[in-house]
Amino acid sequence: MPTAIEIFKHLPKKNCGECRNPTCLAFAMQLANAKAKLEDCPYISEAGKAALASSSAPPIRLIKVGVDHRVIEIGDETELYRHEKRFFNPTRYSTEVDDSMTDEAIEREVLASNRMRFERVGQTMTLDLLTVRSKVGGQRFVQAVEVAASGTERPLVIMTRSPSDMRSAGLKVRTRRPLLHCADAENYKEMAAVAKELGCPLVVYEDKGLNELADLVAKVKAVGIEDIVLDFGAKDLKTLLERSTIIRKLSVRKVFRGLGYPIFVSAPRAERMQFGAVATMKYGGIVSFDSLPPEEAFPLFVLRQNIYTDPQVPIQVKADLYPVNGPDETSPILFTTNFSLTYFTVMADIEKSKVPVWLQVVDTEGLSVLTAYAAGKLTAEAVNRALERSNARTRSRSNTLIIPGMVARMAAKLGEVTGMKVIVGPKESSGVPKFLKGLQ
Ligand code: SF4
Repeated sequence: MPTAIEIFKHLPKKNCGECRNPTCLAFAMQLANAKAKLEDCPYISEAGKAALASSSAPPIRLIKVGVDHRVIEIGDETELYRHEKRFFNPTRYSTEVDDSMTDEAIEREVLASNRMRFERVGQTMTLDLLTVRSKVGGQRFVQAVEVAASGTERPLVIMTRSPSDMRSAGLKVRTRRPLLHCADAENYKEMAAVAKELGCPLVVYEDKGLNELADLVAKVKAVGIEDIVLDFGAKDLKTLLERSTIIRKLSVRKVFRGLGYPIFVSAPRAERMQFGAVATMKYGGIVSFDSLPPEEAFPLFVLRQNIYTDPQVPIQVKADLYPVNGPDETSPILFTTNFSLTYFTVMADIEKSKVPVWLQVVDTEGLSVLTAYAAGKLTAEAVNRALERSNARTRSRSNTLIIPGMVARMAAKLGEVTGMKVIVGPKESSGVPKFLKGLQ
């Protein structure tokens, strides 16, 4: 990314404010931090646009696989370390079927992988792609691609070294814009021609080393392919970690565009969890597993969720009144903050108690109870406003408000402001079930 000063040199310097920044320099600083778009300035010259567009293009190219609502995006990353800003497009997980399987076995496998679904902190996690691998080839491969594609809406990875098989299979599913795996040193001219004809992104494969991979990428680019994904054929974890890190460093720190593409990883069965974890933490774009049982998928999804959330923005839930265990108007109201982890922990503990309760979530900008209280975002007035907005006192006529024990010192003020009977609850959420049962 160019610096603010480098960007500033190409701006019109009118300081007109039409880009919603007071000066061109302020706009340059916003652009450098990816908080504004070049198009926001209507006066920038064509030459300026051209200069900035190429230098401000992300060091890792954005690649889209699939279409419409099932499109997945990989790449478009700008950071080496997550804490520097954030990572944007999460590592995507694919499971595989192959053409040595019967049609029935492919259908069963696709259905099972479609059904894998987890909920965590309000997010739904599912597998992202389906890979169809060639083992038999020829017409059987084309059939296998058709059978697999008809069983899922997930974007596809078509995996064969044969350009003619790739073309035949790709033509059947080209409207879904699959990822073609792969062009290698032998087939790259023909494979690039197929990718061009189908308008699909192409994986470039070279396991000899990164110099050789960069050379092959240059050849593929020279014949007009821009949407490229890299596969350096890692056979062990050391190679995976080393090469992924070198590619990211070269792209982000040195802006070396020859390897500025997302990375594709095939996880070997014996070490699929380790490969999945390393690729998730260290810059993998897509990881393809020959199979991924739910008990191994879930920890990977959780790892991915942790790495790809914005560290500067706490995950939040909507501030509202939530019924738990079928409350009625005699049930008490208990409040907590809209920090996602707090909400889900408290919600689970209330559910455990089986006691009907109204859970009022107060907007504290995603801060937990004690942090929000210390920051002045969890006040008696804020709680009262939340109760008013959700009509809580119409839905619960118990006039009883249970507050987290951590903020017991709010009790008196809260009673005054809300006019409700305030009961101090336990300090820890784990104490909620026993506490609620004791109230009955
Ligand atoms: S709109 Fe363009 S010319 Fe006007 S202040 Fe912004 S950057 Fe400068």
